[in-house]
Amino acid sequence: MQDINSLNIHKLNNLLSDAENIAIVTHMKPDGDALGSSLSMYSFLKSIGSEAKIVLPHRLPSNLLFLIDEDSSRDIIVNEDSPEDAEKAIEGADMIICLDFNAFHRSDKLEPYLSASKASKVLIDHHLNPDRDSFDVVFSEINVSSASELLFHVLMAMPQIEGKAERLSQTALNALLTGMTTDTNNFANSVFPSTLQMASALLTAGAERDMILGNLYNMFSESRLRLLGHILKDLMTITPDGVAYIVLDSKTIKGYNIIEGDTEGFVNMPLSIKDVRMSILIKEDDGFARVSVRSKKGTSANRCARLHFNGGGHENAAGGRLMMPQDIIHISEAGQYIETHTHAFFNEGDE
Ligand code: 5GP
Ligand code: MN
Repeated sequence: MQDINSLNIHKLNNLLSDAENIAIVTHMKPDGDALGSSLSMYSFLKSIGSEAKIVLPHRLPSNLLFLIDEDSSRDIIVNEDSPEDAEKAIEGADMIICLDFNAFHRSDKLEPYLSASKASKVLIDHHLNPDRDSFDVVFSEINVSSASELLFHVLMAMPQIEGKAERLSQTALNALLTGMTTDTNNFANSVFPSTLQMASALLTAGAERDMILGNLYNMFSESRLRLLGHILKDLMTITPDGVAYIVLDSKTIKGYNIIEGDTEGFVNMPLSIKDVRMSILIKEDDGFARVSVRSKKGTSANRCARLHFNGGGHENAAGGRLMMPQDIIHISEAGQYIETHTHAFFNEGDE
């Protein structure tokens, strides 16, 4: 972890000492790692006497709300609900810490405020191609499970913590473990030796794994599991190139009362099939379709998402979107789009 060196830690500490109002920002449609890293950073800042707010582009999925207590809830601003407050929080910040995304545009409508801000800026992220020029200090590392893990290692290097995880608050311990758990799909992907060291340190210090797993994985609606059955039986297609794809149109999403977070993990399942090398899940949204791409080692989900789905991400877990009507006129064309574009991807030598 090259960026975690004494110079960067020193710079981060100096910026923190000078800052009076800190804004913590994460990516659009925040997931467990986005919230986990943001909330643990928030909790650390509070513990050292800093003023901080978390600005989220969109609302949190309900299965993550267990992490939020009354104190932190007062300092979370959701742009989707309170755009003026979100703008004010970023404009009024003299320091901005960006977590779990690599470039301002991934914060959706917060992008212009971040670009215009003269505040000092720090990036802590685990995606490919970080936009280093937009930041004063960058902690970027792709060989970690999650932004939460990278932040954990940054915090351990801070003089206030001195490598002692037990100095982190209960909120920070649980938030860090949550972010790592969701980004690894509960220790299934992107687990490094450093990930297990982090998990061990968090558990030793009192992170509540049973409570976290209960909230993350055992609180879904019945209809979510019924939808999964429908998907696996009727909606999953596998192309001759070994691409499994699933298209969820708005009618299906509404019919099963699917809420944000409900389809988390579905896209990974087809990879369990021997001849499938890539899996794609498409969800219809307003005027576009959200795309999730996962791949086995040797196939680049990131490259496919960048070249064919207006997106990017990690080597084996990426995402993007299909614009309607630019890319497809109607969601019913998504399957054909995937077949054509993934066939081109696997046959143009651009894998
Ligand atoms: P998910 O499929 O879980 O939504 O996203 C998987 C990964 O792809 C995440 O790490 C996320 O940052 C990245 N990703 C998702 N959507 C987009 C997108 O529209 N653009 C880019 N550049 N990355 C994305
Ligand atoms: Mn992440």
